[in-house]
Amino acid sequence: MASKKTSKGTGASDTAQKLLRSYKQCPDCLARMPLNAKICPDCGLKVGPVQADGKAKKPVDWKGYLISAILFGILFYFVKWAFFE
Ligand SMILES: [Zn+2]
Repeated sequence: MASKKTSKGTGASDTAQKLLRSYKQCPDCLARMPLNAKICPDCGLKVGPVQADGKAKKPVDWKGYLISAILFGILFYFVKWAFFE
């Protein structure tokens, strides 16, 4: 006799609720805001579209990109100088 365990419950409606979000949360202060909001009404942080965890995406860190680009450039020139001189 094989008895299969079947999981009863409200899993389906849970999933539906997650898919049908009506708000997103600020990644910084966790304030709720409409899905189409671009700035957090609470702390003023620029926010992107909602992610899978219900939080809004953090804004692009251009400063971080710039620093890593500069560091990569330095590394590139160092490698060029060290190996192709
Ligand atoms: Zn906020």
